[in-house]
Amino acid sequence: MIVGERKPFDEIKEKIKDYKKVFILGCGTCVSVCMAGGEKEVGLLASKLRMANQLEDKNVEIGEATIERQCDREYIEPIAEKAKDYDVILSMGCGAGVQLVAEVLEPMPVIPALNTCFIGITQEEGIWAERCSACGNCLLADYGGICPITMCAKGLVNGPCGGSTEGKCEASTEKDCAWVLIYNRLKKQGKLDNIRKIFPPKDYSTQAHPAQYVQEAYLKAKMGETNE
Ligand code: SF4
Ligand code: SF4
Repeated sequence: MIVGERKPFDEIKEKIKDYKKVFILGCGTCVSVCMAGGEKEVGLLASKLRMANQLEDKNVEIGEATIERQCDREYIEPIAEKAKDYDVILSMGCGAGVQLVAEVLEPMPVIPALNTCFIGITQEEGIWAERCSACGNCLLADYGGICPITMCAKGLVNGPCGGSTEGKCEASTEKDCAWVLIYNRLKKQGKLDNIRKIFPPKDYSTQAHPAQYVQEAYLKAKMGETNE
């Protein structure tokens, strides 16, 4: 999932200070799971903004809604009419969601209330951890299911850098060395021979931005329908 965290309150307040009608829009998918931009967080931010405005004697209308996904047009369109009653959207979706909301509701200004952090997993309750850098050419099969690009601070694909100490990374002693993890996993899998293989340099051209994925089968089916 995409993991995000709410921006500092003062930064949000500063960005919306010139607007009189603010519509806070939450997202019910990834950022809801990581407790950054779901319905509950929308409610908390709305209350905090109302209180702050009251203390400063400012008359600002705050609206709230949470849609299933901000990265999907079909969920944004139904709130388009309601959005017209406001001066600005304060989006609590990830960066992709903010951009699609801005595109669908153009020319309405859309301000991000979150910082989008990474693609990750739930490590334990309240803790999320990065696992994938969306490189566009997944290498996990050769590394025991541990991503050298993301989990190694240097993104090394052919073994450790030599700075690893007692299983920890030289870039941060709080983090495990990815190559120790990879070694241990491959050992358990009986695939330690993989460690001796020399892999070609990572082809980062597959990570060219902005990327696009086209589902051929879906397109063909759609074309077939159109031709009928
Ligand atoms: S190899 Fe690439 S796609 Fe696979 S987990 Fe790592 S960054 Fe993600
Ligand atoms: S210590 Fe391990 S994880 Fe850290 S940069 Fe070196 S090889 Fe990568």
